[in-house]
Amino acid sequence: MIDNTAPKKAWTSAAAEELYAMKSWNAGFYGVNDKGHVAVRPIPGSDLEIDITEVIDAAIKEGCTFPLIVRFQDIISARVRRLNQTFRETIAEAGYTGEYRTIYPIKVNQLHEVVAEVMDAGKEFNLGLECGSRAELMATLALIGDDILMLCNGVKDHSMLTLMLNAQQLGQQVLPVIEKYSEFEQLLVLADQREMPRDTDVRLTPRLGVRMKLSTRGSGRWFESGGSGSKFGLTVPELVQLVHELEKRGSGDCLELLHFHLGSQIADTQALRSAVREITQFYADLHLRGVKVKYLDVGGGLGVNYGGNYGSGHGAGHGGAHGGEYEEGESSINYGLREYANVIVFTVKEICEQRGVPMPTLLSESGRAITAHHSILVVPVIGVHQPDNPPKCEPPANPTSVVLRMEAALKEAKAVRSRGLLMEVIHDAQDARMEAGQLSRLGYLDMESLAYVESVYWSICRKVLHKFTALHLNPAPAEQAELETQLTDLYLCDFSVFQSILDHWAIGQVFPVMPLDRLDEEPTRRGQVVDLTCDSDGKIDQYVSSHANKSWLPLHEYRSNKPYYLGVFLVGAYQEILGDAHNLLGPVGEAHIYASADEPGNFWIEETIKAISIKDMLSQVQYVPSDLDRRMTELIRRKIEAGVVKPAEGMRILNNYTKRLEDTTYCDTDKVHNPGV
Ligand SMILES: *Cc1c(COP(=O)(O)O)cnc(C)c1O
Repeated sequence: MIDNTAPKKAWTSAAAEELYAMKSWNAGFYGVNDKGHVAVRPIPGSDLEIDITEVIDAAIKEGCTFPLIVRFQDIISARVRRLNQTFRETIAEAGYTGEYRTIYPIKVNQLHEVVAEVMDAGKEFNLGLECGSRAELMATLALIGDDILMLCNGVKDHSMLTLMLNAQQLGQQVLPVIEKYSEFEQLLVLADQREMPRDTDVRLTPRLGVRMKLSTRGSGRWFESGGSGSKFGLTVPELVQLVHELEKRGSGDCLELLHFHLGSQIADTQALRSAVREITQFYADLHLRGVKVKYLDVGGGLGVNYGGNYGSGHGAGHGGAHGGEYEEGESSINYGLREYANVIVFTVKEICEQRGVPMPTLLSESGRAITAHHSILVVPVIGVHQPDNPPKCEPPANPTSVVLRMEAALKEAKAVRSRGLLMEVIHDAQDARMEAGQLSRLGYLDMESLAYVESVYWSICRKVLHKFTALHLNPAPAEQAELETQLTDLYLCDFSVFQSILDHWAIGQVFPVMPLDRLDEEPTRRGQVVDLTCDSDGKIDQYVSSHANKSWLPLHEYRSNKPYYLGVFLVGAYQEILGDAHNLLGPVGEAHIYASADEPGNFWIEETIKAISIKDMLSQVQYVPSDLDRRMTELIRRKIEAGVVKPAEGMRILNNYTKRLEDTTYCDTDKVHNPGV
């Protein structure tokens, strides 16, 4: 239990919003309504509100299963508009004479519906696309007309370069962004081999851009994407050589774009300002020598607030796969959209004015900032395990000294109330527990006594934590935080960290998690979310809340007769495509939601996507479902012949196996009912 020794105030929706620090991450889209349900306001400036529990009910009626990704398509367009409007306002205020365009890097979320929504919302802002691999290029080439600017970063082989040249021949605005000098050389060779429509000696030079290796490095987790040691980009001498080569061909103007990318989730704007300065000077130099670059592309990295360091004065100190590297702020950023736009627009303007060159069209390749907010992963809790609440044990008839020691500690725990004595009690209890473990391993303590010692130990822990909490110690002693973490219930949830929030496991990315209903009720338990995988890393161990200790999440007491759903928020960027099939759990189902004031509940489901079936998942790892079925039939036939099962029962077992192949890979949340109860 979370101790509640402070005077009791009525629990309100506002208290729930505060507890889960929603303001730090919701970007205005999420809140709690009067019914205590999470409410979504997908359209900024409108008070149109959608109750998430109604969406869940409707999705279940449509046949959706859990875990479920709920996409609010309107949030994607809201983010596109917000980004572009912010830049437009900044440009107007600065008196900047160029324009701004967003380039959506599809690697962030390639789902066709997401890309289509981004393009739709971006039409009025001339939004473009970016791709980074051959498959991404193939997907986007067919989506764009002649009016959409498309950039191709990443490693480009012959066939990719050829596809881009073909697109240019067709009149599409596809720009290869040269990352290595050899790509440029190959591009020219391939371009010169093209067959031109009219008899002409002119060797048409392809339009292109260049990614620069700047000396500025970003900050934050992805800082290695920038800087001179980065894997990508041309050095300054290589840029100079490339320009000479183009000028020799009389086609300096084919260099249309200069680009840098500092890495994702730029933590502050200092590095950005420095990189923008650096590249704008190159831009000005090129202009003054007659190479009239049109676009200045500041790459991705516009950050998203995940609420990671909300209210804590210290770093998150999260392990993850890169133990201990996770510093404060990497799940948060310290700037807003407006500051981001200001830094870019004003910096470029100032340098262009100083150097007397025209102001370029500004591009940013913002992916995370556009897609992160739009989707919620809905996961049902399917059970709760309380390691600190073992079944009641009887005291042994002949207590040994370690048993007596533990009992004495319990008596102490009940009696004392000062900080110092509480510390002493808990240290005593820990020591006695250790001793009991050792004695048991050596055969000097029987199983019944060990069980009793263990159950008394947990009683002491609960008692001591209760008393620590009542003291309102500030700062709380390490022992208190440790007890909080130990006295935490494990909420088993129907999902896989490795499929749905891989970055939490891989880099310790913090995602906001909270219950989707019962928020009109004060949560009284400390919980930790664990997933279905057999992997001890399959858990969420850092949360966003207003509590100082973020290793647990305040949750409601679980009642097995009523569904209890948790939402994992801000999962719309990168997570879906990075996810893997650990334990063959695989892709989850989806429901795509549009807001509309004309519909009951203010929404309609535009589409649902089924979760992967066991059959399809198995096919991906080379099990042929018909072959499995055949083998199973054979096995059961032999058992029937041998008299192990009766024919009818054998057929029931076989039919059940066959039917289960069509199921989804996640849990079947139906309970087994005991007819005797
Ligand atoms: C990944 C990537 C992006 C997207 O970055 P976000 O942080 O999602 O905005 C943009 N440009 C390049 C070159 C990238 O590799």
